[in-house]
Order: sequence, then structure tokens, then C-alpha cells
Amino acid sequence: MKTVSPKKKLGQHFLTDLSIAEKIAKTLTFDSFDRVLEIGPGMGVLTQYLPWKENKVSLIELDSESVLYLQAAYPSMVGSIHEGDFLKIDIPTLMGTEQFAIIGNFPYNISTQIVFKTIENRAQIPFFSGMFQKEVAQRICEPPGTKKYGILSVLTQLFYEVKYEFTVLPGVFNPPPKVDSGVISLKRKVDFSLDCNEKLLFKVVKMSFQQRRKTIRNSLKTLGLSKDLTEDSIFDLRPEKLSGADFIALTNKIEHGQLST
Ligand code: SAH
Repeated sequence: MKTVSPKKKLGQHFLTDLSIAEKIAKTLTFDSFDRVLEIGPGMGVLTQYLPWKENKVSLIELDSESVLYLQAAYPSMVGSIHEGDFLKIDIPTLMGTEQFAIIGNFPYNISTQIVFKTIENRAQIPFFSGMFQKEVAQRICEPPGTKKYGILSVLTQLFYEVKYEFTVLPGVFNPPPKVDSGVISLKRKVDFSLDCNEKLLFKVVKMSFQQRRKTIRNSLKTLGLSKDLTEDSIFDLRPEKLSGADFIALTNKIEHGQLST
């Protein structure tokens, strides 16, 4: 079968080392979900290690050449191979209302957006694993107080237990990417709701980290908060000092005028 020629604009770096594909697939442990959605399967190197023989796997791939390849390589899967953009699809249309896991060797150009879409749809996504560029994988897993701790770390860790699984070097891809890669897994927390106004929390986190060297008081100035409110010492801190729970408390303070701890 004619293989797919990698296209740069689609972030295509095909994995060539089967043992790594198998290792990534093994990070998926089946307990709290019935189906798996693989994002960006390409020529299916990872797909072959997923439990598709039990009709548990759906694929979404943007590249029509890859879709044709997959249809020919996995004829029994044809009904589960969808051509489309993961960032644009409506999750319930594709997956119904079931609980499902996400897996992939993701296109690195949209990796943070994949995580944000997962967070938005967390009520249906109890598990997530896959490969990112190492920098992004590390940022997701970073604890408070460290240099790389940021918006992605706070928001992901509010809802998921994060685990950095392993690093993958460029030589096992065609073509090799310029950066190292990292595999992570996310397991949804038992309580994945928020004790605060979610929209406001996301806004506060984003504004705080936009100027990460400034105090929260400075970064949130444009919210027009009263002096009384911002007297609290939490406003003296830089954002990297705040855990997800601290951001929830801060959001509640901003909304209700008091710290809820
Ligand atoms: N999983 C394969 C391919 C990884 S490269 C492997 O490991 O070899 C990333 C893949 O994501 C490519 O096949 C690319 O076409 C696909 N892709 C890029 N943007 C996408 C999007 N928005 N939605 C779904 N798939 C996308």
C-alpha cells in the first residue's frame, strides 16, 4: 500500500518505532470508560494496538490521504473512521453521550487546544493520554511554584490527576521533529466540578499569567476591584505561587467579596 507522504502544515510526524506505539497504547487502562477516540491516527501505527477489534475505537483524522489509507488498511473499522478537525467537531455528534477516553500522538501545532477542548468536555472524558512536544507535556504536569507552571498546568490539574509517563526522542519519527516529545496521562478526579464561577476562574487564571512576573493585584487591575478586596495578602503573590484551590478561593473572593477556604 502506498504510504502517506508527511505534510508539514498538518503537523505530521509519523511514529516509526512500533515498540513506542505499543507503549503509548498501554498507558490506556480500561475501567471507567467504554470507548476510545484517537485523534490524528495518520497511518494507524498507534491504532493497531488499540482494542478496535471489540468495536471500541473511533478515529478522527483531518488528512483525507490518511483517511483513505486507514480505510484500506483497516476495512473492518470503516464506520469508525471520521474525516474532520477535532477542534471543530461537536463531541456528542461524534461520540454520543458515552464516557470515552482520548489517545493520540497529537499534531503538536494544536496540542494545547486539544487539552482545552478536553477540559471543556471533561464530563464525558474520564481519561486522556498521548504524546505532545516535551515542553507542553511538562507544562501540563508542572506543580505550583515552578518556572513552567502556567495556565495549562492550573486548569488541567483542577480536573485531572496528571502523570508524566516517558520521553521520546526525535529519531523515531518520520520526519524527525525539531524537539523532544513527552507522553502524559490524565485521570479525571472524582470531583471534577468547581466550587466557583467557572467562567470567572478561567478569566482570572489567564489574566494572572499574562504577566507572570507581576503580583495578582497588578495583573487584575482592569477588573476594577475595590481596595478593600485587594488588601488580602493573596493579591501580593505572583501567579505561580497559587494552586488550583487558591485560584478557586481567589475567584470566590472576587465574586462574593470574601475568601472561601
Ligand atoms: N498518530 C500518527 C500520526 C501523528 S502526526 C503516528 O503516530 O504516526 C499527527 C496527525 O494528526 C496527522 O496524521 C495529522 O494529519 C493529524 N491532524 C492534524 N490536525 C488535526 C486535527 N485538527 N484534527 C484531527 N487530526 C489532525
